[in-house]
Amino acid sequence: MTSYYPLDKLRKIEGLEDAKFVDPYAGGKGNSIRYLSVAPRSNQMKVIGVDNLFCAGEKSGLFVGHTEAMTTGFLAGHNAVRSQLGMPMLTLPRNLATGDLIAYANEKVETIEGRRNRYTFAGAEFFNRMKERGLYTLDIDEIKARVSKLSLDNIFDQKLV
Ligand SMILES: Cc1cc2nc3c(=O)[nH]c(=O)nc-3n(C[C@H](O)[C@H](O)[C@H](O)COP(=O)(O)OP(=O)(O)OC[C@H]3O[C@@H](n4cnc5c(N)ncnc54)[C@H](O)[C@@H]3O)c2cc1C
Repeated sequence: MTSYYPLDKLRKIEGLEDAKFVDPYAGGKGNSIRYLSVAPRSNQMKVIGVDNLFCAGEKSGLFVGHTEAMTTGFLAGHNAVRSQLGMPMLTLPRNLATGDLIAYANEKVETIEGRRNRYTFAGAEFFNRMKERGLYTLDIDEIKARVSKLSLDNIFDQKLV
């Protein structure tokens, strides 16, 4: 998408010398076809019915966005290692925005209405929910305190192997 980041500045980053913004996608001649095969999954991001498969991002629910792909991806990777080591898997609590997004989308996918929606930190239904539940904040210290209270500080930095 066209971003507010200036193209000339973006092109100074190594590897992005020829970057372009393409918006509308495919010059308005194509469509973005997605969500054709969403995997049923647990809130630990394990694919239901397959013992050694984890998923994240758009594949793991009706999530939209890079942040959603990254946060679910961290959890999926972390739990894949835990699972392989026979350790209990991590579930992110619902008093963290990520934990609530993961669990909420899983509940919603059970209903026809819920399957028609998409879930993102960036807007629509889930953004309103975050505000209602007091999960939305731009205060990094508050977020750190929240994570700390749950004893989850730097949880993904834990060396498991
Ligand atoms: C036009 C457009 C604009 C967007 N703008 C924004 C934005 O501004 N901000 C934002 O946060 N989000 C935006 N999004 C959404 C965001 O890009 C996606 O939600 C996010 O990239 C999803 O990440 P993902 O890893 O789940 O999937 P993807 O990034 O789609 O990655 C899936 C990968 O799997 C590969 N793959 C598929 N099938 C196979 C196979 N059988 N074998 C091997 N590889 C396979 C695909 O080639 C792809 O590389 C936008 C999306 C679109 C389409």
